[in-house]
Amino acid sequence: MRRWEATHPRPAVGYVDGKPIALQVVELDGKPVEVTTAAALGRMREAAARDGVQLENVGGFRTMEEQSRLRECYVTCSCNNCNYAEAPGHSQHQSGRALDLNARAPGVFAWLSAHAAEHGFYNTVPGEPWHWEFWATGAGQIV
Ligand SMILES: [Zn+2]
Repeated sequence: MRRWEATHPRPAVGYVDGKPIALQVVELDGKPVEVTTAAALGRMREAAARDGVQLENVGGFRTMEEQSRLRECYVTCSCNNCNYAEAPGHSQHQSGRALDLNARAPGVFAWLSAHAAEHGFYNTVPGEPWHWEFWATGAGQIV
């Protein structure tokens, strides 16, 4: 099993409904992730590992610059496989909730489909099996 490694939190500017918000992010698997989402992913990843499934974070928090670039890729269909990207300031990758996981790896999507909701994660974009958002209520809620 991969060792769980997270860097110290650092401040970042996130966006919800086009408005800037202050977030804290850590690096997980070399990608920035909002701290509450990162903690939830850590718990979910441990549960998956107990079932022999290795979850990997392949994309988390995005800056405005990154979201703008991916939106342009989508609009022009000239990069990022034409994948859908929300308008800058409106992506859950900017609010801190969204992660892109290694859904094509053996057993990962099936495990997530069966268990992610137990950990507050939901697959919210049709046609994107890798895109999961943390929407837990209670102690883990992002406000
Ligand atoms: Zn995504």
